[in-house]
Amino acid sequence: MKAIIVGAGVMGASTAWGLAREGHHVDLFEQAALPNPLASSIDEHRLIRHPYGDHAGYARMIDPAFAAWDLLWGDLGCKLYAATGTLALTGNGADWAERSARTLAAIGRPMTELTIGELRRRFPLLDARGVERAFWLDTGGVLFAQDIVATLARHLGKQPNVRLHANTRVGAVDPEHGRVTTADGTTHEADIVVVAAGAWVGRLLPHTAARLVPSRQIVIYFRLPEDQCAVWAKGPMIIEKTGDVGLYLVPPMEGRGFKVGDHEFSRAGDPDTGREAREEEIQPLLERCRNLFKGFDAWRTDRLKVCFYTVTEDERFVVEKTGAKGWVMSPCSGHGFKFGALMGLELARTIASERDPLQHARWAAGLEGE
Ligand SMILES: Cc1cc2nc3c(=O)[nH]c(=O)nc-3n(C[C@H](O)[C@H](O)[C@H](O)COP(=O)(O)OP(=O)(O)OC[C@H]3O[C@@H](n4cnc5c(N)ncnc54)[C@H](O)[C@@H]3O)c2cc1C
Repeated sequence: MKAIIVGAGVMGASTAWGLAREGHHVDLFEQAALPNPLASSIDEHRLIRHPYGDHAGYARMIDPAFAAWDLLWGDLGCKLYAATGTLALTGNGADWAERSARTLAAIGRPMTELTIGELRRRFPLLDARGVERAFWLDTGGVLFAQDIVATLARHLGKQPNVRLHANTRVGAVDPEHGRVTTADGTTHEADIVVVAAGAWVGRLLPHTAARLVPSRQIVIYFRLPEDQCAVWAKGPMIIEKTGDVGLYLVPPMEGRGFKVGDHEFSRAGDPDTGREAREEEIQPLLERCRNLFKGFDAWRTDRLKVCFYTVTEDERFVVEKTGAKGWVMSPCSGHGFKFGALMGLELARTIASERDPLQHARWAAGLEGE
């Protein structure tokens, strides 16, 4: 079988990997350099963790996601992941951590609740004011996102059955007939076309534009004094909801940066423009950090990065058949990277085996077992 994949972020590249390792032929088109620094997948890190609020379907997918990453590490010959454990905090009426703990207990992976005293003892750089409940899980960690995509692209480039087309924008897709036309007017045909175009997907498949909405997000990289940095380099990742801003913290594992972001959707922006963050946009996040972390006054902003989510109304993934020979693949809403290898392998299996596309879409939407 021959497949065309549009977009070489983690989703397109992983699907190419899944198809190629089963012997299929793949043409992978990327509009920019490979990897594209403006892609959602291209940042130093992305988190993987079991706690998933009420979403049992996604919580259940985490173990298979880890297994898919392990398969990828085997093929790449290196592991681009560091374990940190997961600390989830709530207060101020928010109950995401409690709901996560309930869901995980129900699927046999209970979290440990820490008393506020234990929290203070175990994580001395955390100011526990405002935290009402804290839950810990040994699993979870940091995926070295941009290194993963770049290493995977190099791996794909060495496969005899994969052709990489960097700096080749696809201008039009015909999912009914399995055709794409690149910006220079060349037409390519295949048995199947997968559109994994991230925040640009609505331009290629206009019928998805109302459902898959680009959402401009800002993350802050901080420089910390050495002594603080050494403590944070042991973890944990933190998912926190005790104030108005829901915050996540990515510890500086294996020499990568120390990053804080929030999960509030902007539902605005154009992925081709507006990559400069404005000072006022980060004030609420800075304020939250000031209240939550001891020693914050010594932190310095190193750099800001503007990145795009592609969000759906219910934050579920869209991986759906479109036309006789097309698939749209958008596992995002700001939480897709952790499933990148799994989404790629599974879509490759469905495409090659003629597994029921509707069942695949349900699984990808996290609806199985909910
Ligand atoms: C700030 C931020 C924090 C996040 N944190 C996490 C996290 O902690 N954990 C987690 O699991 N997920 C997280 N995510 C989400 C995750 O990064 C995304 O879900 C995932 O990277 C989406 O990958 P993708 O391949 O669909 O899109 P992308 O990485 O954007 O890839 C799409 C590619 O398609 C290319 N393309 C587009 N149009 C065309 C065209 N016409 N022709 C050719 N190529 C084209 C683009 O150039 C791009 O390279 C976060 C996202 C952001 C932005």
